Amino acid sequence: MMLYTSQQLKIYNSLNGQKEDFTPITSGNVGMYVCGPTVYSNVHLGNCRTFISFDLVFRYLRHLGYKVRYVRNITDAGHLENDGDDGEDKVAKKARIEELEPMEIVQRYTLDFHHILEKFNNIPPSIEPTATGHIVEQIEIIKTIIDKGFAYIANGSVYFDVLKYNEFYEYGILSKRNLEDMIANTRELAAQSDKRNPQDFALWKRAEPQHIMRWPSPWSDGFPGWHLECTVMSTKYLGEQFDIHGGGMDLKFPHHECEIAQGEAATGKKPVNYWMHANMLTLDGKKMSKSTGNILSPAEIFTGTSDKLDKAYAPAVARFFMLQAHYRSILDFSNSALEASEKGFYKLMESLQHLDQLETSAKTEGLQVEGWIEACYQAMNDDFNSPILIAKLFEAVKFVNLVKEQKASITQEDLVLLSKKMNAFVTDVLGLVPVDTQSNLQDDKLSGAMELLIKLRNEARINKDFATSDKIRDELEAIGIQLKDSREGTTYSW
Ligand code: AMP
Ligand code: ZN
Repeated sequence: MMLYTSQQLKIYNSLNGQKEDFTPITSGNVGMYVCGPTVYSNVHLGNCRTFISFDLVFRYLRHLGYKVRYVRNITDAGHLENDGDDGEDKVAKKARIEELEPMEIVQRYTLDFHHILEKFNNIPPSIEPTATGHIVEQIEIIKTIIDKGFAYIANGSVYFDVLKYNEFYEYGILSKRNLEDMIANTRELAAQSDKRNPQDFALWKRAEPQHIMRWPSPWSDGFPGWHLECTVMSTKYLGEQFDIHGGGMDLKFPHHECEIAQGEAATGKKPVNYWMHANMLTLDGKKMSKSTGNILSPAEIFTGTSDKLDKAYAPAVARFFMLQAHYRSILDFSNSALEASEKGFYKLMESLQHLDQLETSAKTEGLQVEGWIEACYQAMNDDFNSPILIAKLFEAVKFVNLVKEQKASITQEDLVLLSKKMNAFVTDVLGLVPVDTQSNLQDDKLSGAMELLIKLRNEARINKDFATSDKIRDELEAIGIQLKDSREGTTYSW
C-alpha cells in the first residue's frame, strides 16, 4: 500500500484561491511542470528559494509513493528585456556585452544553475527541456492557434488575439483580472505596434536584422514568444492536461495567464488542474531581483563574503532557513535570521545522532509516537506546511533530550519507528543532508587554531623574527599543511 492511499494531500490552488484535495489525473502518477530559469546570469538566492519550494513538493509527492514526472525548462531564447514583446533578448544582450556566442552564455549559466541547486541538495527534474530545442513544436502549436482563429499574422509576427479568446473563455481567470478593466487602464497602442490590442501578446516575433537568435518559420525569420515555450514543453512531456504547474508568484501574470490562454486556444481544454505559486524572498523588505540589483548570491552565503553577512553559512543551513517559512509566505533574509536557523539546524542534526544511542525501556513516556507521526503528515498534507513539520521535529528533539537525561522513556519498538520517521522527514522530505555535528565542531576549532598560527607567523615576520615564522611554516608543512601567501593574505591547504 502506497502512503498516498492513506494520506490525503491538500494543495492551495491559485486558480480558485482554495486548498483542494489533490487527486491526480492518473492514479498513482503525477505530472508537474515548473518554470525554470532564464540563463543569462548567475542564479540569486531568491530564484533558489522558488526551486527549493518545488523541490519540497517533488520530494513529498515521491515520499507519498507517487511516480512523479517533474519537468522544469531552461529558458534560453525568447525572453525579452522587461518581460514584454519588445526589446532585446536577455541571453543575446548578455552575449553582446560579453562578446560571446549566445549559446556560450546559456552553457555558462546553466552549469552555474545546476551546480548551485546541487549544493542545496535539490533533486534534478525528470526532464529539463530547452526552448531552443523545441522551436519546431512551437511553430506547430502557433499554426493550430491561427487555424482555430485565436491568433493573427502581422508584418511577419504572430499575435495571440486576447479579445477573440475572451469571447469563448475567460482571460484573467488565474490572476483575477478583468479584461475590460485591463483595457480601460492601458494607454493607447504605440503607433508602430502591429498588435490589434495592447493585451495581445506575441507567439512569434519577426527578428530585426541585428537580432541574432533567429529561426525560419512560415511567417518570418524570427523567434518564439516566451509564454509559448512553457505551453509547448509542458504539454509535450505531460499531456494536454496535467496535474501541477508551478513557478514564482511574479509569473502569475502575464506568463501563466498566457499559458492558460494558449493551451485552451489550442486544445479547448484547461491545461493545468493545480496552479501553485511560491512566494518571494526579500532583502531589506524588497524583492530580491536581478533587475534592481537587490540580490545576494548563493556563493556569498557559502563564503560569507557580503557586507550583509557576519560569516559563511553551509548550503544546508540556508535551505533549512527557507523551509522554516511556508512556501506561500514572503520571507525576509537577514544575517540574524540565518544565524538562528543555523543553531536550530545543528540541534536537529545532533538529535538524529543521539537517536542511535538512546537506551530503551519497557514503556514509552513523554511522547505519543504514533500521534506525533500523524501530526507530521498532517502538516505536510496541509499544503506542504514545512514550518509546522519543523516545529513537530523539534518536539521530538526535546523528547530525545529528555530520554537522554532519563526524564522520559521509549520502548525499542517506538524508537525504531521514531528514528525511521525522523530520518525520513529530515532527509527525504526536507532534503537536509545529515551533518556530522562532531566533525563540524572539530572543523570550526581547527580553522580557529590555523588562523591563530597564521596570525602568530605574521606577527613574527613583522618583528623580523624569521626563525619563528619559518618554523611555523616548515613544521606545518612537515605534517602536510601548506601555507600560501598572496596579496589578499595567507591561506592554507592540505
Ligand atoms: P527568472 O530566471 O528571472 O525567470 O526566475 C526564475 C524563477 O525565480 C521564477 O520562478 C521566479 O518567479 C523566481 N524568482 C525570482 N525572484 C525571486 C525572489 N526574490 N524570490 C523567490 N523567487 C524568485
Ligand atoms: Zn514558464
